[in-house]
Amino acid sequence: MPSTRTTRTWRNWAGNQTARPTSWYEPRDASEARQLVFDATNEGRRVKVVGSGHSFTAAAVADDVLIDVARLCEVGTVDPATGEVEVGAGVTIADLNHALAKQGWALANLGDIAYQTIAGAISTSTHGTGVGLTGIAGQVCAISLVDGSGGVRRIESHDGALFRAAQVGVGALGLITSVRLRVTPSFVLESRESPMRFERIISDLDHLVSANEHFEFFWIPHTEWTLTKRNNRTDGPAQPMQPMRQWWQKSFLENTAFGLVCRLGRARPSLIPRLATALPSSGQVTYSNASHEIFASQRRVRFVEMEYSIPRPACAEALGRIKRMIDERGFRVSFPVEVRFTAGDDATLSTAHGRESAYIAVHMFKGTPFEEYFREVEAIMVDYSGRPHWGKMHFLDSEALAGLYPKWDEFQTVRRTLDPSGVFANHYTERIFGVGG
Ligand SMILES: Cc1cc2nc3c(=O)[nH]c(=O)nc-3n(C[C@H](O)[C@H](O)[C@H](O)COP(=O)(O)OP(=O)(O)OC[C@H]3O[C@@H](n4cnc5c(N)ncnc54)[C@H](O)[C@@H]3O)c2cc1C
Repeated sequence: MPSTRTTRTWRNWAGNQTARPTSWYEPRDASEARQLVFDATNEGRRVKVVGSGHSFTAAAVADDVLIDVARLCEVGTVDPATGEVEVGAGVTIADLNHALAKQGWALANLGDIAYQTIAGAISTSTHGTGVGLTGIAGQVCAISLVDGSGGVRRIESHDGALFRAAQVGVGALGLITSVRLRVTPSFVLESRESPMRFERIISDLDHLVSANEHFEFFWIPHTEWTLTKRNNRTDGPAQPMQPMRQWWQKSFLENTAFGLVCRLGRARPSLIPRLATALPSSGQVTYSNASHEIFASQRRVRFVEMEYSIPRPACAEALGRIKRMIDERGFRVSFPVEVRFTAGDDATLSTAHGRESAYIAVHMFKGTPFEEYFREVEAIMVDYSGRPHWGKMHFLDSEALAGLYPKWDEFQTVRRTLDPSGVFANHYTERIFGVGG
């Protein structure tokens, strides 16, 4: 039988969510996973599936049965005719990247870390940047899951509403055992990182977003500066940073030194505006590497985050309002505000559903009060029909969320069909989808 431990406390990466599940299982394969859900259903218990625990919200908090799918991590062989591959739900994106690279394939777009499981990532509409590309759920073509009655379902792209809902299910539709992904032949990305004045970003934003395959920037609060990152495909060969430079830039500056700045700022918030002007950056740098090495970075400095997706044309105005609000309200923010872009897609609860999107993310260093600041930012985002990332902090409930998604009712119908008795509910899904709704 799969292992079970009942005395362990579960914590998410940020440490802001904990759970004391009554049972903790790590099934070895899909049939064990199915049996666990089936038994839990018959006993009237609730199940929460966890991935890597990288959500900041309580999306993965298990108040009864916890099922960790880390052992469902097999990566199949890519079918060269279709460019599709079946992968276990619990494979981390890092392991998936390596397994695909060995076969000469890659994911077309990724977020900025690779610690998440593939099922966790798609379930919360995880995305990277690139206005011609969707989030990770848009790269899925079929999903196998165990529904709330313990039944096994294979949901394919021709299944219409069922498929569109399952692409981003926020853990509320069932236990995903595997997904079939559309992948792309391996490619090399050239990355150009450079500081840029805030006004220049704002005036050139459309061009910067359209002229680069993957454009993102970080505005440093209390300054007029941003750090930009432009990633574009190149024919290669890859010219990675020298190991010493890599360590200096990615490990020392972006983690060790940045962490020190954050700790100082947490101890003495009044120092933050001055520390911000000295935020570690090594200026302009260009390098290239296999795509997955460029997309994902190390993140050793822990934080809490909120991220909103808004229609792309509203980005500059919304950002300007956040900048003014931080000054007016006197918040002290040591973490840069991250801005990214994606294409629209049709997954029912994709945060980019039906619209080209800009994503604005705000962060607070672990242990720093964040709620007042996040609520002020949220109030601005709401003015642009902003949709919160399902895995990042927000304060909306089902009533507010329903108005943000044109096919909200379609999702709710699928949810009630797949999980009629709420086996996969927890207090987070009750808040966002309505209790017993
Ligand atoms: C440092 C850091 C960087 C991040 N960077 C990005 C980024 O660049 N872009 C972005 O969009 N997001 C980003 N995120 C958010 C992160 O991608 C999401 O929160 C993602 O869901 C985490 O995946 P996970 O495997 O940790 O899932 P968990 O947090 O463990 O779970 C997330 C949800 O998925 C459900 N779930 C997990 N596995 C299954 C399964 N097998 N079947 C059914 N449901 C399942 C859970 O029940 C839960 O509802 C970041 C988070 C952190 C901490």
